Amino acid sequence: MSNEGVGGEKSLNFLEEIINEDIARGQTRVHTRFPPEPNGYLHIGHAKSICLNFGLAKKYGGKCNLRFDDTNPTKEDVEYVDSIKEDVRWLGFEWAGEHYASDYFESLYMWAEELIAKGLAYVDDQSHEEIRQNRGTVTEPGTPSPWRDRSVEENLDLFRRMRAGEFPNGAKVLRARIDMAHPNMLFRDPVMYRILHTEHHRTGKKWCIYPMYDYAHGQSDSLERITHSICTLEFAVHRPLYDWFIEKLEIFTSHQYEFARLNLSYTIMSKRKLLQLVESKIVNGWDDPRMPTISAMRRKGYTPESIRNFAEKVGVAKRDNIIDLGLLEYCVREDLNKRAQRRMVVIDPIKVVITNYPAGRNEIIECINNPEDASAGVRKVPFSREIYISRDDFMEHPPKKYYRLTLGGEVRLRYAYIIHCEEVIKNLEGDIVELRCTYEQASKNGNSPDGHSVKGIIQWVSIEFCVESEMRLYDTLFTKESPEETEEGKTFLDNLNPNSLTIKKCYGEPSLKDTKVGQTLQFERVGYFCLDQDSRLGHLVFNRTVSLKDSWSKIVKQQK
Ligand code: ATP
Ligand code: MG
Repeated sequence: MSNEGVGGEKSLNFLEEIINEDIARGQTRVHTRFPPEPNGYLHIGHAKSICLNFGLAKKYGGKCNLRFDDTNPTKEDVEYVDSIKEDVRWLGFEWAGEHYASDYFESLYMWAEELIAKGLAYVDDQSHEEIRQNRGTVTEPGTPSPWRDRSVEENLDLFRRMRAGEFPNGAKVLRARIDMAHPNMLFRDPVMYRILHTEHHRTGKKWCIYPMYDYAHGQSDSLERITHSICTLEFAVHRPLYDWFIEKLEIFTSHQYEFARLNLSYTIMSKRKLLQLVESKIVNGWDDPRMPTISAMRRKGYTPESIRNFAEKVGVAKRDNIIDLGLLEYCVREDLNKRAQRRMVVIDPIKVVITNYPAGRNEIIECINNPEDASAGVRKVPFSREIYISRDDFMEHPPKKYYRLTLGGEVRLRYAYIIHCEEVIKNLEGDIVELRCTYEQASKNGNSPDGHSVKGIIQWVSIEFCVESEMRLYDTLFTKESPEETEEGKTFLDNLNPNSLTIKKCYGEPSLKDTKVGQTLQFERVGYFCLDQDSRLGHLVFNRTVSLKDSWSKIVKQQK
């Protein structure tokens, strides 16, 4: 997985090895590109590709372009272009050039005429279906189109008329004239252009013929003088065709290299399927925090550093595998531990009355914002006679090794006093509604004048001053590790997790009101939480970024 060698030193990934060899052979430039199709929002898989392409350029003092692969106007939109730019920048990268495949339509068109003139392309009148049927199979050669041997003049004339809009969608295509019996099916006269009378989000109505991926991609790389065109493994079979066009056109030679795409457990990454989740309102938009998109992860509280670090840890593989979602969560926990300020919240509260604390009095307790970062300072939290503690932090009949509050037992209130539970008050149903406790006045903030200490420390909030907030607790969107693996007749939607979102109320210390949208906090012993954009004055909404590791529940299970 990671390419960390023995002793922690980094060994090179295979792309770095290739680049080093290129440099040894005298190549002086490294120029990569990240080429998203603007037909959806970027996801964590794209983040992997972004970190790789921009990372290699940075490492070798080269450049990385952002290129929108916008050759399919029916599915593309400026909304996606804008979101992609925002996400790449947020991840911490700046592109050398911003390009659009659509900027190359004229060059691509001229090159297509050149291939026609060389007898290497022809206009085919067969329907999409006929072309498919006549391609043959892996074991049988294809059948040449009856239009394959049109003259150069006729092909040029027809291709120009295709461009001029004389033919309806699907009436004709331009195909490369290669080999209908080639063992690589992609070489059996691949389609280069199709007719699509559709407005393009950048070129408007200028074009009604659009180039196919295989024809557009390599030539775009070549125009930008990309040296290392990195893509995912499924394009390995396309590489000979990529090289073929460049060779026949005698243009700058870019080279394609393939690495394994990132797959993450419990996650789907196909944009088509993600769009389906958005359109069918299974999630609330592309940035619903349960989505694997960058915008969703940002909203959920992930940091760019945690994602970059994850991409680094995953490494660059040549074979497909599935990365454990736990690794991503580990990376964000590790990062937020250093940067998130701590706060106290109580989720399922029990009222605690401190009977020997004067009614009407309150005082300020100083709490450390981040024990990992002294510069984060302290904050003031009001303490009073009536407080909430979490229902989980009290047990009337505790198991062994339970160090929190019990009847007759003691616990420390975080940064405040040691309290002793004297009495449990229940309602008629037998539920605990209140705990009556006493406090030890001299035990404030770690002092223990009589020398005794207590093991358990629990969080608390003053009932008078606390702030009620909404917590959105997320679980994986799917219940299966590989959501796309389904039994017959089922789809990935059958693997949806009905409990991917749980909403709870929590009571937090008053400083929660000062949180900014997008700021992440650690709610002590609960998890990391990020203030959501849905928050309103008097109604704060927190997204759980990730839970803290919960070792306690394991101990409880072992005891049972
Ligand atoms: P989808 O099939 O979901 O639409 P895509 O691969 O077609 O995804 P593009 O917008 O074409 O999406 O991808 C832009 C770049 O990001 C490509 O170079 C692609 O290889 C890379 N990429 C996409 N998904 C992943 C992934 N899961 N892991 C690594 N790289 C990826
Ligand atoms: Mg694509």
